[in-house]
Amino acid sequence: MPQLYIDGAWTSALAGAQREISCPADGTPVGLVDEAAREDTEAAIAAARRAFDDGAWSATPARERGDLLLRVADLLERDAADVARLEALDTGKRLVEAEYDVADVVSVFRHYGHVAAEEAGRVVDTGNVDVVSRVVHEPIGVCGLITPWNYPLLQVSWKVAPCLAAGNTFVLKPSELTPHTAVHLMKLLEEAGLPAGVGNLVLGAGADAGAPLSEDPRVDLVSFTGGLVTGRRIMESAAATVKKVALELGGKNPNIVFADADRAVALDYALTAVFLHSGQVCSAGARLVVEESIHDEFVDGLVERAQLIRLGGPFDDKAETGPLTSAAHRDKVEAYVARGLEEGAVLRCGGRRPDDPALADGFYYLPTILDGVTSSMSVAQDESFGPVLTVETFRDEDDAVAIANDSIYGLAGAVWTQDAGRAQRVAGRLRMGTVWINDYHPYVPQAEWGGYKQSGTGRELGQAGLDEYRETKHVWHNIRPVEQRWFAG
Ligand code: NAD
Repeated sequence: MPQLYIDGAWTSALAGAQREISCPADGTPVGLVDEAAREDTEAAIAAARRAFDDGAWSATPARERGDLLLRVADLLERDAADVARLEALDTGKRLVEAEYDVADVVSVFRHYGHVAAEEAGRVVDTGNVDVVSRVVHEPIGVCGLITPWNYPLLQVSWKVAPCLAAGNTFVLKPSELTPHTAVHLMKLLEEAGLPAGVGNLVLGAGADAGAPLSEDPRVDLVSFTGGLVTGRRIMESAAATVKKVALELGGKNPNIVFADADRAVALDYALTAVFLHSGQVCSAGARLVVEESIHDEFVDGLVERAQLIRLGGPFDDKAETGPLTSAAHRDKVEAYVARGLEEGAVLRCGGRRPDDPALADGFYYLPTILDGVTSSMSVAQDESFGPVLTVETFRDEDDAVAIANDSIYGLAGAVWTQDAGRAQRVAGRLRMGTVWINDYHPYVPQAEWGGYKQSGTGRELGQAGLDEYRETKHVWHNIRPVEQRWFAG
């Protein structure tokens, strides 16, 4: 069955190209998918433009658009086992993690299904009883949605659900490495009754299938999640037609541990913060910033446990985390660690591929801890997007905040302390879109997600995540116009 979805029909790429997808855990073939090029994306943009301009979808009552999202949530629940399996195969992540992801996707669709019809606008007090002044929200138009490979369907849901709730049409281009769950979602949107042309799917490489979404004048907004370099390129090309741009980019997220923290809990979470999904998490706590006085004990404890982490494929019940997504990505992680060692970081564990022959066909890399790191080193500044923890120490609260904020990124961070006043002070001073206190990683669809500084622009989730997909219009109605006689009266 063809896997591009354009104007309500499943179609193959015009040039007939296909791409083979294989599981990063062991190279098992997962499937052949159609590989779109520029011309396919342009056809999808044309369909989305027509569907928006005919006005039927944006004029559909918001409650009905919300109902469609709720039906999609139900269908996703029905198909949860299949979707999780597809996600695990494409990404190599453990099946149980893929199951959590699908449950999260369901709640994102439910959330935007419920809020679609809320907050229709507001009435403004002009001080003039003869004027009705109201501010209303309208859809932006055609949205280009571009997503990465680490949480494939979850990242898609953060865009597709609010985009449709607000009455837009879209062209989605998921990562070329992990396309299968996006294909499944489009089938569910079709089954739930999405009109032809409202949602379109193209699969393929960024430079070919993705680039038109930021270049084409028929696209009104481009929402991108991915790396910083790609984000900059998209922002540049979107500038030519002054598109709305929403960017969710990388992070180099500090996990600050004060000596007064509950150390056993902080240590346990520090491992999850960085090694979950082998560090391929934009908000990974990859930068441990620990108080000098507890450094030795804390890092020894981390090293001991990191060495015990069991690697394995999606269906290995004993595995605790999986492979990196590709050979090229593992090469990047290896180069990043090598740079750190050249700059003087101290390797405490990992720093290489595992010896286990059972893992030889996957892109595995051992959980790695680099100690003795300072802010000026590249490993403290660059995102590795792999299972690598860097360790820096601080003397006092000011020092901790200064180190944590010394980054071009500002996506997320955490602070561990039992002093509630200090926790709140530090949270207030961190220049990041999300701060966890005595926790790491949780998020809810009701709360905004996004980055300060070069971690991005705009927000996903929450009210702001819906507002990204809305224009705001002021309608001024003079209900008793009288002559003004301003001129020549
Ligand atoms: P990437 O930038 O290489 O690719 C992301 C997407 O952009 C893919 O679909 C790719 O095909 C597409 N793309 C590439 N070049 C393009 C172009 N010129 N025009 C249009 N599209 C193009 O990123 P990745 O390697 O897939 O993902 C990893 C990155 O994503 C990391 O930096 C990570 O921090 C970031 N990320 C951020 C968040 C967040 O919420 N802030 C979430 C997940 C991942």
